[in-house]
This record gives sequence, structure tokens and C-alpha cells, in this order.
Amino acid sequence: MAWRSPALTYRLLGVFLIAVAATGFLLGWAQIQQDVLVVLTFHGIVDVPQQPWETTYQDLTEHLARFRRHGYSALSPDQFWDWWNGRLPPGRRFLLTFDDGLESTGRAIARLTHEEGVRPLWFIVTGLLGKPDFMTPEGLVALASQTGCRLGLHGGTHEEFPKILAAGRDLAAEVGRAKADLERLSGGPVEFFAYPYGVHDPASRQVVASSGLRVGFTVEPWSVQRTDDPFLLPRLMYLRGHEEFGDWTPPAEARSGGLTMTLAMFAVLMALRMFLKAAEIDRRPRSSPTT
Ligand SMILES: [Zn+2]
Repeated sequence: MAWRSPALTYRLLGVFLIAVAATGFLLGWAQIQQDVLVVLTFHGIVDVPQQPWETTYQDLTEHLARFRRHGYSALSPDQFWDWWNGRLPPGRRFLLTFDDGLESTGRAIARLTHEEGVRPLWFIVTGLLGKPDFMTPEGLVALASQTGCRLGLHGGTHEEFPKILAAGRDLAAEVGRAKADLERLSGGPVEFFAYPYGVHDPASRQVVASSGLRVGFTVEPWSVQRTDDPFLLPRLMYLRGHEEFGDWTPPAEARSGGLTMTLAMFAVLMALRMFLKAAEIDRRPRSSPTT
């Protein structure tokens, strides 16, 4: 029965390749379906951008549309805790944030609410309210209640926290006052924080963590993981020509998932080839051992 061996070998190889392909499809599918949360940060939304962190409303909405085309949906700040606690099904999501409290941003947020149905998280520097180009406290209150956007704290002043500590100032008192001011304006607890310029050190993180704020956002080109330190959550900051979110549309995980699936498909083709070879051997006229 030695003549059967080559066909059997091809069949066994085929079965092995099918097993490899099945594993590849499962792995690739898991990579494509992987949970992704990116926090996007914009600053001034203006008619004529001059600084790299400024952009137009149209450009902003085009960025959001690209995320949506790649399967992302908007996560509202209020849904953030459900996501953080694993109560939402896996998916691709973006949380839109703005920094500083500029009037131009306020106009963009009002339009976004009506035209895109997106509720952003707006990080406010309380000491800048009422200054030229910044929202007034009354304007901020009105806009927040009209749009449902959530207010977060971005400091009492727009200074790097480690520098405030190095200057010997009482950062805890400054953050406490700013948080209380913003809570008075927003009429509820302020839980979200973003470090001015994204700059922090262990001492300043400790101040934020001790102030009753629940999360602190930095600026880093990564997605948020549930295992992250809640006072070190990364945000992608829009910078024209540098950070336009191309690495996330589609996310890197999905791209490697696509590659894994392609390799799995290749393994299926190889397996088919093995089975065909085995069939071909079976069809060959067998020489009789007696002749
Ligand atoms: Zn800022």
C-alpha cells in the first residue's frame, strides 16, 4: 500500500494549512474588531488658519467624516465612564475635545451640535474666561446648556503645572479654586482634566488626582486603554501637517488584521492546491504489483 503515501501526505498538508488559515481568520477578525478609543484634541476653529493647531470648521468636519467612514462613532463625554468600565460593546470610537475656551471654538461647538450631533468635551482655563477672544462666563454657561457639551478643567491659568510647582506656588489651592469656579458655572461636578500644554510630572499628577478630578489627559499619539493610569490618558492633538489622524483611519490594529486575513486566504489557496494534487495522484492509473 506504499503507493497511497504521496496522496495522503498532500491531504495531511492540506488539513494543516486549513487549520492555519482558520486560526489566521480568527486572529485577523479579532484584530479588525478590536476596541479602539481615540481622544481627538482641537484648538482654534477659525476661518483662516495661521497656526498649525488652528483649522477651519469644514476641515474639522472632514476629519470626523473620515473617522466615521472607517467605522468610528462619536463617544459623548457622558458615555466615557460606560466605556471605561467596559459596559459598551467593542467598537471604534472617538471622543472629541477642545482646549482653552476660545469664542471661535464655542461657535464651532454650537454648529457641531446641530449639524453633526456630536457632544464634545471642552477643557476650560478658568482664568482666561472673559479675556479678549475667550468665552465670557455667562456665554459659556449659555452655550453649555444649549449644546449639552461637557466642561472639563484645563487649569486656573494656562501654565505648565511643573513650572507652577517649581515656582513654589500652591498648585493644589489653584486647582481647587479653578475646579470650584467651573463647577459653579457648569452646575455640576467637574471630573475631566487636561494638563496645560499636555505637560505633567509625578508631583503635578498627584495634585490633580487629589483634587477630586477623575481623569487627566495628556497629549500622546496613542489610543486610550482601560488599563491606563487614569491621570495619564493620551489624546491625539491636531497639528496641521503633523497630526491629521492618518494613523487611525483605519487604526493600525485593523491594518494588521487585514494582513493576517490575506495570509490566511493564501493558506486556503495552498490547501486547495494540496487537495487537488492528492486527487490527481488518486486518478493516475495504478500499476499492478503482479505485472
Ligand atoms: Zn491649552
